[in-house]
Amino acid sequence: MGSVLDLAVGEARVGTPGWLWLAGFLALLVVAAWAALALVRQRRSGRHLQHRLQSAATQIDALRSRDALTGLLTRAEIEATLDVAAIACDRDSRQLSLLVVALDNFRPVNDGYGMRVGDGVLAAVAARLSRCVGDAPLAARLAGDEFLLIVEGGLAAAARAAEAVLHAVQQPLQVEGLEISLTASVGIAVYPEHGSRPRLMAHAALAMRSVKFGGGAAYAHFDPTMAVDVRDQAELLHDLRSAVERGQLKLYYQPKIDARSLQVTGAEALLRWQHPKRGMVSPAVFVPLAERHGLIRRIGAWVIEEACRQAAEWRQQGLRMRVAVNLSGHQLRQDDLVDLIEASIHRHDIRPHRLTVEITESVAIEDTAHTRAAFDRLGRAGLHVSIDDFGTGQSSLAMLRKLPAAELKIDRAFVTDLATSADARGIAQAIVQMAHMLTLRVVAEGVETEAQRDLLVAMGCDELQGYLFAKPMTPAALALWAADDDFTGHGVFRPSLFDPTQAAPLDG
Ligand code: C2E
Ligand code: MG
Ligand code: MG
Repeated sequence: MGSVLDLAVGEARVGTPGWLWLAGFLALLVVAAWAALALVRQRRSGRHLQHRLQSAATQIDALRSRDALTGLLTRAEIEATLDVAAIACDRDSRQLSLLVVALDNFRPVNDGYGMRVGDGVLAAVAARLSRCVGDAPLAARLAGDEFLLIVEGGLAAAARAAEAVLHAVQQPLQVEGLEISLTASVGIAVYPEHGSRPRLMAHAALAMRSVKFGGGAAYAHFDPTMAVDVRDQAELLHDLRSAVERGQLKLYYQPKIDARSLQVTGAEALLRWQHPKRGMVSPAVFVPLAERHGLIRRIGAWVIEEACRQAAEWRQQGLRMRVAVNLSGHQLRQDDLVDLIEASIHRHDIRPHRLTVEITESVAIEDTAHTRAAFDRLGRAGLHVSIDDFGTGQSSLAMLRKLPAAELKIDRAFVTDLATSADARGIAQAIVQMAHMLTLRVVAEGVETEAQRDLLVAMGCDELQGYLFAKPMTPAALALWAADDDFTGHGVFRPSLFDPTQAAPLDG
């Protein structure tokens, strides 16, 4: 005997006629069939949707994996490629190399000619870079003007690729009817030698930055000391900011000597930073740091003002000489640079041609609208313009003629090699002759030995500067040096050099 409910259902069945049962059964069948059909349809359309979504995602991925401007891989995609490749390297004990490529002088192109030309340049460079790694998609654009290449093999293969990249980038580009010349800095990191997979890209970037730091247009591979350097640099930057705030930078001065009369014709102001823990930090280290982090404007303005103040003080003491300041490329791009200089020379009542502005050759020949305008204004202001470190860049005679320069400084590298290298002698002699043809005075920097001095004098060099005569020193030490016979080292100077009644050959 069943439960009460079972009985009730049973009863309902006994009381129902047979045809009704059949009709109900058929209706149930129809509903079930319809429901099954709907389910299948839903499943199918679900699968379809999923499929469509997947293909859309793949398309988006494909788009995402390509940089819109250059068609190269994106960072995410090349990272994924690198993951797979690194695993394969581990498995087969093989090597691969990463090359981070950054353009050295892209910004002036973008600023000077506009983004359209800038974009054209990036696309053209990208095409050349991808040819350097063959047809495989192993080149990516990381950001702005930075690219990444993966190369199979170790350092030798990477160096070959880096040379190919440097060569490819250096070939002039034709963009929008303009001819544009660029150089690149390349950093290399080899896997697994130069770091684990997650650190590899950062290490290649560090190597690239160290190349940039050294002036660019070259390649270098990662070195473990570089990682320390970066941390060090962050600390140094912090300290530099506070040194600028607290006015802890100083100017030292190194005399320039007339090669024939042996009179002091001028003194070059050289920045010094006495760091509380590190000791004296070279401007070769902190000036590029200041440039990269936007501090050079403030530092540069202070140098100009302080050098003018010092020049006025020396003049009052009866010391007749030019004072020279170094200007960085960043300062030349500063619109108010000449106003700033003029304000300082007026404030201290300095005649413009008594202030020399030294601009390195590599900056002077950057033929951008900014540098051209800056040079014109410096010339019109009557300042004594000097081309520093001459011989290392690629100036042509035609370019030099266009610059309103009055002085040219032979780079120390040629002076150092004078006594030992016929090439260096040939170059120095050619520079002196060329400069004289253009009525420029020639200063040799870095004169350390009497042999160098004698060769330079024989070549007709006009002025000499270097440790042989004096190291850069404080303004007070410079006055003492002039007054003290023993300070003159080689017995070629006398205190009378600073005699106010003796006219230095710079008054004309
Ligand atoms: P520079 O203008 O070519 O200055 C010459 C450098 O050679 C100075 O180095 C000087 O101390 C050094 N020197 C002079 N004579 C000799 C020598 O006989 N032997 C050797 N071995 N070296 C000699 P310093 O003072 O370290 O300056 C390095 C560079 O830093 C300068 O090269 C200049 O480009 C930059 N700099 C210095 N002061 C300033 C500044 O106020 N503003 C800017 N923008 N750059 C500066
Ligand atoms: Mg200089
Ligand atoms: Mg120099």
